[in-house]
Amino acid sequence: MRKKTIRDIQLQDKTVLMRVDFNVPMSEGQITDDNRIVQALPTIDYALEQGAKLVLFSHLGRIKTEADKEKNSLAPVAKRLSELLDKKVTFVSETRGPVLEEAVRNLKSGEIVMFENTRFEDLNDKAESKNNPELGKYWASLGDVFVNDAFGTAHRAHASNVGIANNIDTAVAGFLMEKEIRFIGGAVDNPERPFVAILGGAKVSDKISVIENLLTKADKILICGAMAYTFYKAKGYEVGLSKCEDDFVSFAKEMLEKAQGKLILPVDNLVTKEFSEDAEATLVSADSIPADQMGMDIGPRTLELFRKHLENAKTVVWNGPAGVFEFEKFAGGTKGICGILTGLEGATTIIGGGDSAAAAIKFGYKDKFTHISTGGGASLEYLEGKELPGIKAIHNKDCCCEDC
Ligand code: ADP
Ligand code: MG
Repeated sequence: MRKKTIRDIQLQDKTVLMRVDFNVPMSEGQITDDNRIVQALPTIDYALEQGAKLVLFSHLGRIKTEADKEKNSLAPVAKRLSELLDKKVTFVSETRGPVLEEAVRNLKSGEIVMFENTRFEDLNDKAESKNNPELGKYWASLGDVFVNDAFGTAHRAHASNVGIANNIDTAVAGFLMEKEIRFIGGAVDNPERPFVAILGGAKVSDKISVIENLLTKADKILICGAMAYTFYKAKGYEVGLSKCEDDFVSFAKEMLEKAQGKLILPVDNLVTKEFSEDAEATLVSADSIPADQMGMDIGPRTLELFRKHLENAKTVVWNGPAGVFEFEKFAGGTKGICGILTGLEGATTIIGGGDSAAAAIKFGYKDKFTHISTGGGASLEYLEGKELPGIKAIHNKDCCCEDC
């Protein structure tokens, strides 16, 4: 990997500025899922073991008015982190100024300061989100080195990621960021072949650039989820009441022509008369969706077809659930794909997509994939083949041969 990582630098007695993704779901001041905090622990532990004086920060939610501040304070996150680490975390309820500066100055090796939600700065003319140069420079001045472990914001050029990296001598990736670059970046740039992509989810329109990019990279693309019905329409099949984007039928047609057999569509579907868990479901083949019914999931023949195309795969990237997995009755396709992928021998299996990741975790496959991305929007843009500004800003290794 060409990007410098936390392993490449000395941390002993250094003031280490670490951007993490602590954008956890909250309800009435309580954290409802601390997975993002847990995921950041390896990088935090490593920095502390190496003798860093650690300054942690993150955004949380959106801050548009003063009133947004209270429910988006990082104070409960600092408390939870302290419990998880069994260690004091000094929380500074400011994003700049003498109190923060003194807390950072007083840090000793192995200690942690965490400061308030970086987006509180958005009340100053969107300073964080618009990457105000003065703000990035100011935060950079607080430390010696910068570690970016917040992949979830890598698709944004904000002051707390790009701004700091551009104003400090050393900017490296943390372990989480490194994993995302290695697996998602690696799959898109230089996959071990055969490389098969599975694309599903709600809409073709969300994933146009992913489809276009992966068509040039993957050996096969297996289509499922609601997006299959826009492709069906492009082939002239009746889609009934299925979710279908009429404005994108011509795009789907163009992709089918371009793909020359690389795009594989579902051959059977579970259909219902209404969008409901209790609706009676019938299995029909691709060209036989009744006019008064909608496709809710792929069927068993499709899973078998997908299994055949995946058998010899060495790299698989999956983005988008195969059906309305939120309803148990229509979770079979998504569960089936989890089962097939996690049973492949010698393949690198990667999930990049918020809902697909949530589904795989919900169905008990959390540790069975090679990599489940921690970023929804960021992984989507990475799969589109875009250079993410947060990653671009991390400094390159001094040796820049193609192999590292
Ligand atoms: P990801 O977050 O993994 O990229 P998306 O956001 O594109 O995935 O899509 C997820 C949503 O797609 C889920 O809420 C799921 O219910 C929906 N979906 C999947 N298949 C269908 C279908 N056949 N009809 C309607 N919605 C579907
Ligand atoms: Mg989604």
